[in-house]
Amino acid sequence: MEYEKLSVIDFVKQIKARKFTAEDAAKYFIGRCKKSTKNALLEIFDDALKLAEKVDGKIAKGLPTGRLAGVPIVIKDNILYRGHTSSAASKLLENFVSPYNATVVQRLLDEDAVIIGRSNMDEFAMGTTGGNSAFGIARNGLNDDFVSGGSSSGSASAVSAGLCLASLGTDTGGSVRCPAAWNGIVGLKPTYGTISRYGLIAFASSIEQCGIFTKNVADNELIYSALCGKDIHDATTLPMPKYSAAKIDIKKLKIGRITEIWEMADKMQNIAQYNKVFDFFKRAGAEIVPVSIKNIALSLAGYYTVATAEASSNLARFDGVKYGIGNDSAENLIELYKNVRTRGFGSEVKRRIMTGNYNLGAEDFETYRIGTEVFADVKKGFADAFGAADCVLIPTTTDSAPRIDENITDPVQLYLMDLFTVPANVAGVPALSVPCGVSKAGMPIGLQILCAKGQDNKMFAVADYFYSTFDRRAK
Ligand code: GLN
Repeated sequence: MEYEKLSVIDFVKQIKARKFTAEDAAKYFIGRCKKSTKNALLEIFDDALKLAEKVDGKIAKGLPTGRLAGVPIVIKDNILYRGHTSSAASKLLENFVSPYNATVVQRLLDEDAVIIGRSNMDEFAMGTTGGNSAFGIARNGLNDDFVSGGSSSGSASAVSAGLCLASLGTDTGGSVRCPAAWNGIVGLKPTYGTISRYGLIAFASSIEQCGIFTKNVADNELIYSALCGKDIHDATTLPMPKYSAAKIDIKKLKIGRITEIWEMADKMQNIAQYNKVFDFFKRAGAEIVPVSIKNIALSLAGYYTVATAEASSNLARFDGVKYGIGNDSAENLIELYKNVRTRGFGSEVKRRIMTGNYNLGAEDFETYRIGTEVFADVKKGFADAFGAADCVLIPTTTDSAPRIDENITDPVQLYLMDLFTVPANVAGVPALSVPCGVSKAGMPIGLQILCAKGQDNKMFAVADYFYSTFDRRAK
């Protein structure tokens, strides 16, 4: 049986109907992971089969099982799983063993998912291609010659290459949506505060969320419903009623077209495909309404000001005392800090710590202040836009995945790739990337559907309609 072809929903149905065992399926996926050329996983967990056996045991005894019974899932390497290594793809945390479970991991386990391994990523989730991993770049799940995208490179590649059925990532400025688009799969950045960040290795806490990769929209929604909700361990989580799916009437739907975004996107080589998306919705009876968001074009600059500032503060804890590679030769504390941070961090991480400290420095606090002003404008702009429209549509990235041999290392060129993903983080609104076509290079491109804060269910409903009706193959 080719288990990788099943949706999560069908997989769970069939396992509960005893069509196959969780153990057989887990063995199958682990076999695929071992044979894979993608460098998507940093480790396959030894105890995955034990989890699968536990699920089979429950089913054999006729006991109730969770909503993700037996589903093979991969977690990004910055998500803590008790007793397992979590390195954030950094040399500095290479030997760090998690002392507790992240809330998202606990909720996966409570739903009887089988966590099979941890995935490659850009070091500390900083990057757009996967090239900043200390353990080598992950390859695109569809084609070894292309990057997978970042920073959740391995999580996206693993789903699209059929090494698991779903995976978790983190999205601070696009790290789930960009690799999802480049791998032709679905990637979620939920409303800020709906999924707990407890047990995530923090990069920029005020904007980052755990996100989900799946092959289709309905699977993504199922996993979101299992992970979301208030968590006493994370004070930024919102009080939420139990998740319930939304229904939409496409003929009554108002779709926002952000003027400033589409002016920039007009120069993209894949613009014709995005125009087809708007035509598709128009033909289905939806109304397209132009909306304007002041300073949205500055989101990227605001993001790299605020995110680096938060990163410099969050990463200060990696000083070689509680975390990090031991250094016996250091003669004093300052030398220890220097040695460990010099050897442990890669160059992009160092660059962000330096820029972040600079942005927060007393003389230059003005830069940070302006960054937060941009955030306020963009937040307000989205709130107003969602007064006029039910959702807005934006391209996920400016182009499809670059080739690995292009070896893009210019930081500014890489930062510019986040142009369309950062606004959702800045505003705290939910965004889902759904495959919407193929580029001239023959690689997938994605469309983002964004809704107002807390309307993740409405976003899933629009996305599900689009995903199941739109002809993505058309060029
Ligand atoms: N590419 C962005 C960055 O490098 C996004 C990172 C993320 O979402 N974690 O900061």
